[in-house]
Amino acid sequence: MKKIGIIICGRYLSCGGGKCFRALRERVGAFAAYGKDEAVEVVGFANCGGCPGGNVEYVPAELKKNGAEVIHLATGLVVGYPPCPNIRKFKEFIETAYGLPVVIGTHPIPLKYLENQQKLPFWKQVKMDELVPALLAEDRAVMESYN
Ligand code: SF4
Repeated sequence: MKKIGIIICGRYLSCGGGKCFRALRERVGAFAAYGKDEAVEVVGFANCGGCPGGNVEYVPAELKKNGAEVIHLATGLVVGYPPCPNIRKFKEFIETAYGLPVVIGTHPIPLKYLENQQKLPFWKQVKMDELVPALLAEDRAVMESYN
C-alpha cells in the first residue's frame, strides 16, 4: 500500500479533485508510476494556501503524520497561467524539511493547456521540460481526454 498526499495550487481552491482522483484510478499522468495492482491511498488533499504558498511550510507535517510516503504537487501548478514559480522551491523544501519525496504532477496535462503553454514563454523560462518529463511523455489522446 502506497500512501500519498496531494497539494494543489491555491488558485484552484474550489477544485474538487476530479481529475486527480480519476487519474489515480486510471493510473495515468504522474500516477502511471504506480502499478495497476498496487494499492494507493490518498491520505490528505490540501492547497498551498495561495501565493506565495505559505501552507507548504506546514501542511506536509499533517500529511506525514497521516502516513504519507510521497507528496504529489498537483498538475495545476504546472499548467496554470502562469505556472507556479515556486515548484522547484516547494520540492526542495518538502524533501529537505520533511524527508518525503516529492513528485511534480498528478493528472495528465490537459492537451488544450499544453498547446497554449507551448506558445508562451513561461515554460521555457522555468525549464518545464526538465521538471515534468513523464507528464510530457503522456499519450496525446489521454491528454485530450483530460481537457
Ligand atoms: S502559483 Fe504556486 S504559490 Fe501561487 S497559489 Fe499556485 S501553487 Fe501556490
